[in-house]
Amino acid sequence: MFAIKKTLALSETGWHDFKRAVFACVLTNLCLFLPFIVIIQAIVTLLDPLMSGGTLDTQKLLLLLAAGCAAALLYFFVYRNEYRKTYTTAYNESAKIRIEAAEHIRKLPLSFFNNKDLSELTTNIMADCASVEHTMSHVVPGLLSTIITSALITVILCFYEWRMALSLFAALPIALCIILLTRTLQAKFGERHVIAKMNVSGQVQEYLEGIKVVKSFGLSGEKSKALESALRNMMWEAIKFEGLAGIFVTLASIILQAGMGLVILVGVTLLSGGSLDPIRFLMFVIISAKIYSPLLVLLTLLPEFFYMLISTARLQRLRTEKAMTGEENISLQNYDIELQSVSFAYGGEEVIKDISLKIPQNSMTALVGPSGSGKSTLSRLIPRFWDVKQGKILIGGRNIRDIDPERLLSYMSFVFQDVVLFNDTVMNNIRIGKHDADDEEVFAAAKLARCDEFTAALPRGYETVIGENGSTLSGGERQRVSIARALLKNAPIVLLDEATASLDPENEGLIQEAISELVKSRTIIVIAHRLRTVMGADKIAVLENGRLVEEGRGDELLAKKGLFARLYNIQQESLGWTAGK
Ligand code: ADP
Repeated sequence: MFAIKKTLALSETGWHDFKRAVFACVLTNLCLFLPFIVIIQAIVTLLDPLMSGGTLDTQKLLLLLAAGCAAALLYFFVYRNEYRKTYTTAYNESAKIRIEAAEHIRKLPLSFFNNKDLSELTTNIMADCASVEHTMSHVVPGLLSTIITSALITVILCFYEWRMALSLFAALPIALCIILLTRTLQAKFGERHVIAKMNVSGQVQEYLEGIKVVKSFGLSGEKSKALESALRNMMWEAIKFEGLAGIFVTLASIILQAGMGLVILVGVTLLSGGSLDPIRFLMFVIISAKIYSPLLVLLTLLPEFFYMLISTARLQRLRTEKAMTGEENISLQNYDIELQSVSFAYGGEEVIKDISLKIPQNSMTALVGPSGSGKSTLSRLIPRFWDVKQGKILIGGRNIRDIDPERLLSYMSFVFQDVVLFNDTVMNNIRIGKHDADDEEVFAAAKLARCDEFTAALPRGYETVIGENGSTLSGGERQRVSIARALLKNAPIVLLDEATASLDPENEGLIQEAISELVKSRTIIVIAHRLRTVMGADKIAVLENGRLVEEGRGDELLAKKGLFARLYNIQQESLGWTAGK
């Protein structure tokens, strides 16, 4: 029983409710036998005058009729009780598991997501949790209660006639062995089926996400072929898995039902030997007809249970992934940032190598360098999207490893190029910066971020819904929404990824204006692509192949004639070339 608690990862309340659900199922199963006991008694009453020559006891028959009706009524109530206990428990527990899984995912470092694709996590939260829910409502209580009820009935029947009772259940161990012995084979095919299902959901997601590219490059044939083959593969895996389970379950069922023949055979032998009376024989025949139906259900539930163990094991793996932790009630004295010999690797190869850098409070520091030199990675280590491999990062003198990631994020705003917008109104998209902000605060931030210009042209102004990931807005407009968010959040540290996408001059001008509002009296870390725009920064850190190769003010670095000066000159030349063209 405790193994089940662990396997299904039930909470204490869930476990308590689960036990009650199993008890309710046992009660229902036992109640199912009441009408049979009444029928047997009625048959005995009817046969009695024939066998012993007396008169028919009509009063007893009427009493039995009343008992039959009472048994039916009782069955109705216990079944209703079972339904409530089982399903309410399952739904409550699965809601809890789903929320816990989502909460846990939120606390995992980005390194976890780097190795996973989205469809796997979606499967974890949706399909795996649904599996646990199904296991708890439809499978395990039924499975356990059938085992308990069958054991109880065997013991009771043994008192009546132990040889008949044993013959009734003689085939059960063989049938169970068939299912249990083929478990590994079923698990193997089950796993393959689950992987095929996940592959399909990944393909569907990719197909829909990339539909624009698919259409514009005429890839629909090729891409739908990949999806079609994933679907076909899933179909075959399902057929193999279901077919295999079907063969073993049918075989086990046939063997189990052959037990009925054994009951008759043993019964007839005992009857002819005179050691069994016809009434008991009849009782065993009727009971054997009834007892096999829950046992047959048990045989079909077992493979389903094994299949679900695959999902629960995956959920368990997700739940045991180490979350990022840290102190929540922390207050920082200042917002100076210091990197001390920081190294980091996504996989094997280091992409940040032994970087030490001081970013004083209320200053602007620009990270520059060729593409792939590690600028984005470095900027993502500061908010603990990833934890450093070596060295440490301090904010206000505290190691960020000791700060709760969500608390740490509360000190920071982000304006990244890959702005994530929700299919909601402009207003609500900006309000994400500060959930409890009133409308006036949102308008003020939006105005500073120059969102007024484009919202005026929208059909419902700030109340316009902007489509999935803001699909109805231009790149520049999306970025201004993200700046408005950051202004509303009013965090002391701002991480800014300067736009590389070619913006039209008007948009670029507006964004620069919006950014200059944002950077007032804050600690700014900007990933700069156009070096000209960061010449005024307090400090420029130049990266090359993950190393900090130069550091200083713009004019100092130009005078040094190193990498920065080289990159700067190349950009100036290309600008001149473009302008001259
Ligand atoms: P930059 O911002 O200067 O262009 P990045 O920090 O994006 O550089 O990348 C530095 C190196 O890390 C590159 O070699 C890049 O391929 C690698 N890299 C970036 N992001 C990931 C990731 N999520 N997983 C694995 N490698 C990555």
